[in-house]
Amino acid sequence: MKELVNELMNGIFYDHIIFLIFFIIIVVLSVVFYRKIVGVTGEFWVRVELRKLPKNRYFVLNDIMVKTENGTHQIDHIVISKYGIFVIETKNYDGLIVGDEYKDKWIQYLGKNKYYFKNPIHQNYGHIKALKEILQLDESKFISIVCLSNRANVKVKAQNVTQVDFIDDLIKSYKTEILNVDLNELISKIEQENILDKDIRRNHVKNIKNTIKENERKEDEMVCPKCGGKMVERQGKYGKFIGCSNYPKCKYTMNIKD
Ligand SMILES: [Zn+2]
Repeated sequence: MKELVNELMNGIFYDHIIFLIFFIIIVVLSVVFYRKIVGVTGEFWVRVELRKLPKNRYFVLNDIMVKTENGTHQIDHIVISKYGIFVIETKNYDGLIVGDEYKDKWIQYLGKNKYYFKNPIHQNYGHIKALKEILQLDESKFISIVCLSNRANVKVKAQNVTQVDFIDDLIKSYKTEILNVDLNELISKIEQENILDKDIRRNHVKNIKNTIKENERKEDEMVCPKCGGKMVERQGKYGKFIGCSNYPKCKYTMNIKD
């Protein structure tokens, strides 16, 4: 009888320990992967919205990775319809977002902090060029959309920069049929080219990280990562910043480091 009670108590004790260990692991993982989770949830909400588009007219492809001569491209979402091929780049940033169509970088203001990030319109243009090559279609058949978080305060002077809540309306506002081809064929072409290999996908992320590191090293030396020119301090509409001395040929800018 005593042994039975002991065994029972041990069982309960171990259950609690296992639960506690499990709980700690989850907390640690959430802290470590916070940025990744936030990034993924941004894409998740766009995915949820795109699912609401009428299924007989719009075909949605998510998280596509393709390779062309110019490198590997990771495309967040592609919507294929008679009204065109919508290529969507998602940015899940908070705060005030300032930018325009032409600048090399956009700015995120978070409180007193200012962060530069690559112009998503330019990024998306690279994706469109890759898809154009794969599908053998004219550029006029593609519509570029940049989708920002609902939480962001967006001050961007450019067409087709929207937020999650408005993305379906923007897509549905294109009412002219411009694609006279078999849409299923386009979809299978993309699916055929889509890289599913985990190692290649991981490498793509690694390469991006390496490029960022390399750019940071050049910035530390006040060298433009884009054209190799000298970086100089300039006065802009929103205060001082550091830009490439080859402006206006090169529009590269960087953070002022304290
Ligand atoms: Zn430059």
